[in-house]
Amino acid sequence: MFHIANIQNKRILKSDLIQSAQAFFTTRDSFLLTKDEKQPQIVSENRASVCEYLNIPPENLITPVQTHSSNIAIAQKGQSYPDTDGLILTDSKLAIFLNFADCTPLIFYDEKQNIGAVSHAGWRGTEQKIGVLTIEKLVKDFNSQLENIKILIGPAICKTCYNVQEDVFQKLKNTVKNFENLYEIKNNQIFVDLKNINKQQFLETGIPSQNIDVCTYCTCCNNDLFFSYRNENKTTKRHNALLKLC
Ligand SMILES: [Zn+2]
Repeated sequence: MFHIANIQNKRILKSDLIQSAQAFFTTRDSFLLTKDEKQPQIVSENRASVCEYLNIPPENLITPVQTHSSNIAIAQKGQSYPDTDGLILTDSKLAIFLNFADCTPLIFYDEKQNIGAVSHAGWRGTEQKIGVLTIEKLVKDFNSQLENIKILIGPAICKTCYNVQEDVFQKLKNTVKNFENLYEIKNNQIFVDLKNINKQQFLETGIPSQNIDVCTYCTCCNNDLFFSYRNENKTTKRHNALLKLC
């Protein structure tokens, strides 16, 4: 279950599913990235509040440059991440965040191993199954067990709001065995449920369904709370998915 919490009176979104680590989504109040040059001040204030809340210095807050790739890297202090859409976190002194405005944010946490990851799954990332690739890396390189991996699927564009072309529909359909209920045809237009396509990929990979929490917020329907690239004329502001280990 997701619920709204606050950092210095600015709203964030949390889930009961992950309680020991710090895993949350920022909102329009608490966003950590913009390319809008008029607003760098808000972003630096928000980053400072988040660092204070997490009790880490600003240089320990790491974010990659996302390109809708399926590249996954391991977060290390002082390193930059061009062309990276998944970050694995193994160092409890660091925090990682990725940036979103309609695409699906994915936070992974393995409580037993105290490791985790954040990935970016727009339609391209979902087509490339970046979430499943992230899980495979946690299992193969860090000995995670599927039953210990908990996953938050954060605010993203919903099935009512997200219409796609036939080619995108086919590509997404091919990523799962069971595509039932994950799309809708209305007035000859195709709508897909990006959040639950990711969930279905995880179920088919062997993640237990009780380990997955899917957020009901839509970036378009709940545009008062989150940014929407489609609904806001290609906004450059981004809400975030953040993880810090315990
Ligand atoms: Zn919607």
